Amino acid sequence: MNTLVICEKNMAASRIAYILSDGGSKRSKISGVPCYTFNDGAWTVIGLRGHIVSLDYPKQYNRWDQVSPLDLADVEPVRKTSNRRIATALKKLADNADRVIVATDYDREGELIGAEGVDLLNGSHTVMRAKFSSLMPYEIRQAFDSTDSLDRDLAASAEARRIIDLAWGATLTRFISLASNQLGRDFLSVGRVQSPTLALIVNREKEREAFEPTPYWRLIAHCTDQASFDAEHRQGKFWDGDEAARIYKKVQRAEHGMVERYEREEKSEYPPSPFNTTTFLRQASSLGFSAGAAMKIAETLYMRGYISYPRTDNTVYPPGLPITGILEKLEEVFPELVEHSRQHQRDKPTRGKKFSKDHPPIHPVGKASRDKLNKQEWRIYELIVRRFLATLTMDALAAVSTAALDIAGEPFEAEGYELLEANWRAIYPHYNKKEHPLHLSEGERVTVEGIDKNKQKTKPPRRYSQGTLLAMMEKNNLGTKSTRHDIIGKLYARNYIKGKYISPTHTGRAVIEALERSAERITRPDMTAELEHEMNEIAEGEKTLDEVVDDSRRLLKEALRQLQQRKDVIGEVIQEAMFKQRFMGKCTECGGNLMVIRSRRGKRFIGCDNYPDCTNSYPLPQKGRVLFEGDYCKECGAPMVTTIYRGKWTKCVNLECPSND
Ligand SMILES: [Zn+2]
Ligand SMILES: [Zn+2]
Repeated sequence: MNTLVICEKNMAASRIAYILSDGGSKRSKISGVPCYTFNDGAWTVIGLRGHIVSLDYPKQYNRWDQVSPLDLADVEPVRKTSNRRIATALKKLADNADRVIVATDYDREGELIGAEGVDLLNGSHTVMRAKFSSLMPYEIRQAFDSTDSLDRDLAASAEARRIIDLAWGATLTRFISLASNQLGRDFLSVGRVQSPTLALIVNREKEREAFEPTPYWRLIAHCTDQASFDAEHRQGKFWDGDEAARIYKKVQRAEHGMVERYEREEKSEYPPSPFNTTTFLRQASSLGFSAGAAMKIAETLYMRGYISYPRTDNTVYPPGLPITGILEKLEEVFPELVEHSRQHQRDKPTRGKKFSKDHPPIHPVGKASRDKLNKQEWRIYELIVRRFLATLTMDALAAVSTAALDIAGEPFEAEGYELLEANWRAIYPHYNKKEHPLHLSEGERVTVEGIDKNKQKTKPPRRYSQGTLLAMMEKNNLGTKSTRHDIIGKLYARNYIKGKYISPTHTGRAVIEALERSAERITRPDMTAELEHEMNEIAEGEKTLDEVVDDSRRLLKEALRQLQQRKDVIGEVIQEAMFKQRFMGKCTECGGNLMVIRSRRGKRFIGCDNYPDCTNSYPLPQKGRVLFEGDYCKECGAPMVTTIYRGKWTKCVNLECPSND
């Protein structure tokens, strides 16, 4: 009997073949696609490239000017083979096979990818499913020893989402682009997950703009005893400046303070819970990785057998996790860390709040070495190892002390923090706090070196970083662990957002404001939460794909009708915003508007909007963000343009200007 195994990617195929054949598989190519055979050709393993079938509308609906968004909403999408070579290879291999084992990633998307592959075949095969969540020998062997059947309901739930995403994305994108006359390469995209994510950023920016800082004062006493420490007036923030001044006057010249109360308490500090995708990406983001880059590296590490499947919501290790075996492997890579963890081993590993059965939390499964990984890959691998070891290590022990002092009749308070037993903190230093010991005794007199009255202001809510945005997306159920980082990347690529601390561009903001007024649904997370619920119902067999898709279409058409009525206003608002984004000052030759223009080859430069009557133009750097902040050159009158790319600088755009010498 001949067996064909279908994997999600080539790297996984190569590894699974290696494991099942005990290293004896042979690589060959069929139709230019690598595949792996063993047992005298009785087994063949092939890897796909994720989805090899794409969903799109039939060609006749692609004319934006002829098919209205509303009509498009009702069109049934068609499936197209998006990778012909792999499809051909798959069919050829299947001709010689009696049975097919689907061994794609075990999640909704993986089930659909496997089902798409199977559906390309003629239907004469026995189809089985191997489920695993890491490419480790014990797990792979077990998965192939106890195969299951393909779960069509699970695949349908993923397919429903694809259809709905296409419908909302394509129709609203078409509507917004037509309304603002942004066609061709410059179209404005809208998406079921993308738009509510952008709305989060726009709303945060609005909160910041509406924010009015309130001044407050703090009184800080700098004291010394055995060591120096700071104490703050018990009141904390003084909202009344006069009151702060009055008390300051009273304590200003104090030379001593009296310790009225001193308490020291030992507290244990629980280690972090196992990594799921979101917590992993957050931590990686705080180490300077973009979410996209961190995810890509994690996927490579998974494919190469160093870590478990990196797309998971789960934060609880399954009971069967071979912790001892993993530690033995890690011992060769991080001997000291493993030793430290073993010596301070906790009874049970930590556990987080999210528990699901599909995949375990992200953890190391194999030993890597520095020479096999590049620097960034190594940093991610080390992070995952350290997190894993931390979850197995005992609580840290810290001493937290508080003191109440009397300074010239006014109450002051001081706090201390001291790490007594580092335990997991020695392995995972990312959350470590600064130590500042405080050792006092009641009734003791301390020296006051000086007292400061600081004026401060309340601060607006912070802009999101990629890490905090990811967490917010997860909290609002926006996207999946597999797509979140891509969505953020798209928002940058589409020029809807900018900066490391993310703010919306004029266009991003205008698009959200337009949608919010008429199709609010797509800017809010509720829709996604409902869809998630319905996808579960499909997976459980309680609803059909058609029911869910029809429901969603009805809502979409309602939104489109409302938008249609306001089409002109929406178009104007967006065009105005796009103008602002591209405007680089007034032309020195004719008084026209200088705009950022992209040449046919994609290079950007500044040109005058009176072209061809005025041919004034300036070059622009091709990388980074450029903006005009309203200033003109004192030497030649041309606009001053700011470039942000690994730094920020402003200079005259005119290369011949003396200021550029
Ligand atoms: Zn001009
Ligand atoms: Zn100049």
